[in-house]
Amino acid sequence: MASMAEARPSAPDPARAAGAAARPPLLSLDEALSRLIDGAREHLIRDTEIVGSFDALGRVLAAEVRSLLDVPPADNTSMDGYALRAADVPAPGTMLPVAQRIPAGKVGQPLAPGSAARIFTGAQLPAGADAVVMQEQCEAVADPAGAGLGAVRVGIVPEAGQWVRRRGEDVQRGAVVLAAGTRLSPQALGMAASVGAATLQVWRRPRVAVFSTGDELVMPGEPLPPGAIYNSNRFTLRGLLQAAGCEAIDLGIVPDRLDATRAALRRAAAEADLILTSGGVSVGEEDHLRPAVQAEGELTLWQIAMKPGKPLAFGHVRRAQAAAAQAAQAEGGRAIFIGLPGNPVSSFVTFLLAVAPVLRAIQGMPDVAPRALALRADFDWPRPDRRREFLRVRLNDRGGLDLFPNQSSGVLTSTVWADGLVDLPAGQAVSAGQTVRYLPLHELIGR
Ligand code: AMP
Ligand code: MG
Repeated sequence: MASMAEARPSAPDPARAAGAAARPPLLSLDEALSRLIDGAREHLIRDTEIVGSFDALGRVLAAEVRSLLDVPPADNTSMDGYALRAADVPAPGTMLPVAQRIPAGKVGQPLAPGSAARIFTGAQLPAGADAVVMQEQCEAVADPAGAGLGAVRVGIVPEAGQWVRRRGEDVQRGAVVLAAGTRLSPQALGMAASVGAATLQVWRRPRVAVFSTGDELVMPGEPLPPGAIYNSNRFTLRGLLQAAGCEAIDLGIVPDRLDATRAALRRAAAEADLILTSGGVSVGEEDHLRPAVQAEGELTLWQIAMKPGKPLAFGHVRRAQAAAAQAAQAEGGRAIFIGLPGNPVSSFVTFLLAVAPVLRAIQGMPDVAPRALALRADFDWPRPDRRREFLRVRLNDRGGLDLFPNQSSGVLTSTVWADGLVDLPAGQAVSAGQTVRYLPLHELIGR
């Protein structure tokens, strides 16, 4: 992700910067990311766990998986039919006696020259056979005496190797089938199982403490008093953390007070590798996170030249001695802090672009950029922002991109409607027909 963009203007506006001395400087997303990832390195998770492959979905491999066997372990048939030697069938209509019957899971006898074996999908080929003819191309001829397996009239001239799945054609003994750092998808678990791995060595899950700030927030299930809104970020962020394979430590809603915010930070630092918050990171008087983090640790990064998501805080929170000793990680002195903006779309987008790469980094996963597609914009965007923008868009059935009409950072509907983000360089307008950089959401969630 750090390499997400080619050279991009970070566009700090000198006039604006001078006029607002109290404001922290604008940082480009790429610069912020490389600082975040650098900062994450000291938090690399070093503890591993052995888990059953059955329960390892979403975990990250700490060690490669190497196969101790060939897969498939022997040549076998991919069809129901007859196993034979291709050379024994020089012409269509050749009759061969059926000398044996081999269902899947059974091992036959060596194939006598000039004979065929009735065989079923997945059964190992008998020694000497080199081809299978599918039953639809054969005619079974009953034994006149009613005994034995009769004969088969082969309707075609087979080629050696046909319908045979070769020993080791999927995996050869000794091959690495899954690299360290792989996030275990359903198919990766199937792969591990196919080489007989009953357990897997994975990294401990990152522990992420998360809390929301804001006196206006109430939880679904509670009545909504005047002035209040439901706390959606708590759900979005918790879901994103779970999708990213983290252990989410949910600290709920913290009141907009300095002492309460500091206490929450201390508690979070005692338990977590990373502290994630939403809201309270602007420069308003009701925004207590910045002074709270400064009192409990340090704040190193403040605003990012991206839209949505400009206010973003990054720093560290010290752990109390006892907590540091208790923390599983040896480097244990402090937890990473990332403060996301409160606006629901902003916190969603900044999680995807700035937090997900940090979670990958602390799990030792490679820093690979999400795969972007160059696609046609089927919309106009005439008034670009001076910041790099991430527009909520959806792929249409003409292969182009539609824009959600309301791109406001409070409009959560856009995140449910969209299937991707257009990554628009600072100051760039778009007219329909132009090619833009599209980041599919599935490339960003749960990576
Ligand atoms: P803040 O960053 O605290 O100034 O919040 C910016 C906007 O996001 C305000 O309109 C808040 O009401 C809203 N907001 C903050 N936190 C949440 C949350 N957890 N769920 C939904 N909206 C929120
Ligand atoms: Mg607030």
